[in-house]
Formats: sequence, structure tokens, C-alpha cells
Amino acid sequence: MKKLPIPTVNDVHSTTETAENKRLKKTSYPLLALSLPAILNEYDTYQNNNGNALNITPLGINRSLKIGLHKNYASPPNSLLHIAKIRASSPRVCPMCGSPKTTSLDHLLPKEDYPEFSIFSKNLVPACDCNSKRGKATKNQLTGARVLHPYFDCCMLERQLSCSISPRLRFPQVDIAIAYANPTDPLITSIEFHYDKVVKPSGLIGWLESQWSSLVDYPGGVIHTLPQERITTADELRGYLEDALQRYDRSHGTPNNWYSIFVHGLLESDGVLPWLLEAHNNT
Ligand SMILES: [Zn+2]
Repeated sequence: MKKLPIPTVNDVHSTTETAENKRLKKTSYPLLALSLPAILNEYDTYQNNNGNALNITPLGINRSLKIGLHKNYASPPNSLLHIAKIRASSPRVCPMCGSPKTTSLDHLLPKEDYPEFSIFSKNLVPACDCNSKRGKATKNQLTGARVLHPYFDCCMLERQLSCSISPRLRFPQVDIAIAYANPTDPLITSIEFHYDKVVKPSGLIGWLESQWSSLVDYPGGVIHTLPQERITTADELRGYLEDALQRYDRSHGTPNNWYSIFVHGLLESDGVLPWLLEAHNNT
């Protein structure tokens, strides 16, 4: 999860130019021109509601225009060059789930249900394959929870996700679970929803388990701030981990990247630091 600046694209201009492009007869011309006022109005609604899925209802545009807009998105004309730029705008971390990869572009309000936002820059978020794993999940009307929006939800600037690492009897075998770092956040219901629908399907727990396995093999290979020499106290070790946490936060531009989630969990989980101190000194 990562808060991103809102794209500075002039969507009224880019969509109007697309609507007037007579060479797009096989996709959006002239249907888009006919629906242009309604679609631009929906863009305003989207921005006025900060992309909140609970407050935005589908416009219900006709099927031919829906197909045309999907094609414009897949093969953008010159008026829609922002699509490729947004796809490449967060290369080191997925803003939706926090994984260390982005290869795709997520329609925050899915283009199947909301085709009017198919080419709308504020609805396009760089993402990894959590995009397809989320599917069309956007909200739960009963609980008032919704998917978080990297362009609008400032709670993503704060540390929200951590993990708890619970030693089993046969330590260093452990159980790893997600933990919420800021459970009193006003948006906690949506943060939990976002975790369940976006982050969890992306494979965070499996990734944390593999980090733990690597840590067991060689702590310095995972926590690069650990020194070559012995560490004498748990407090000293804590300092190295806090340094690593800060570096991960800063280098990814968000405290909710997967590396930080792991290191924060090491710091917060009982019994881990004394074991890690010994493991480091014995390797
Ligand atoms: Zn992702």
C-alpha cells in the first residue's frame, strides 16, 4: 500500500480529444461524443468523492461504448498516452498491495462495472497481479468498508500493516499473521477490507514466511544493516532493526511495503529478538 500523488492529467481534455477523434470509428466514435457530457460529469463525481467506491454508482453506459472504451484503454490513441505513464509510475512497490513489483495497471473502480472510468487517469493505479486477484471487489455496503485509494486515502501514509510472528514449540518454526499497526485509525474497517481483498490474495503471508526462512538461514542476508561482528545486547540489535525499517520505509516511499511489514513484525513480536541475537552471533 502506498499513497501516490494524484496524476496531473487533464482528463476533460484527453477524453474530449478522444471523443472527437473520427479515426476511432472501430472503438469509441461517435458513441463517446454522444455520452461525453454525462461521462465528464461522472469524472467530477469521482473527484468530489475522492474515488470512494461506496459513493459512486455506475453510469450504465451502453454496451457498444463500453467495448469501445475498453479497446481505447488496451490500445491507446495519442490522446491517452497518460495510460502508459501511469503504469510505469511506481516501479519499486505496488501501491495497492505493497509488494515489490508492479507490472500492471489497476482500474480502482473496475472497468467491467464502471466502463465510464476506463481511461480516467484518477481511476488508473499502477499495480502488480493483485489487480487480477482482487477481481471486482470494491466495497461492502453492510459494513461500510471499501477498497482504499492510493491517490486519495492519506491513511496510506501512516504505518497500517505489520505482522505477528508467534514461535511454535519447535522454534524457529513460527506462525505468521497480519497485524494492524494503527487499529484506532478512523478507516480501520476499510483498511481491513483492503487487506482481505487486495493484500492477502497477493500472497503477503507466504512472502513473509519465505523471508523468515531466509532469516533463519542467515540473518545478515535479510537484514542488511546487521554488522559482521557480534552484537552484545538486544537493545543494540533493536537499533539495527529500526535502522533497517527506516531504510525500507524511505527507499519504498511507504511504511506499508512488504519488507517494512516484516521488519516491523520482528521488532514487535515477543521472543523474536533474543532468538535473533543468538542466531546472528552463531552465524
Ligand atoms: Zn499489488
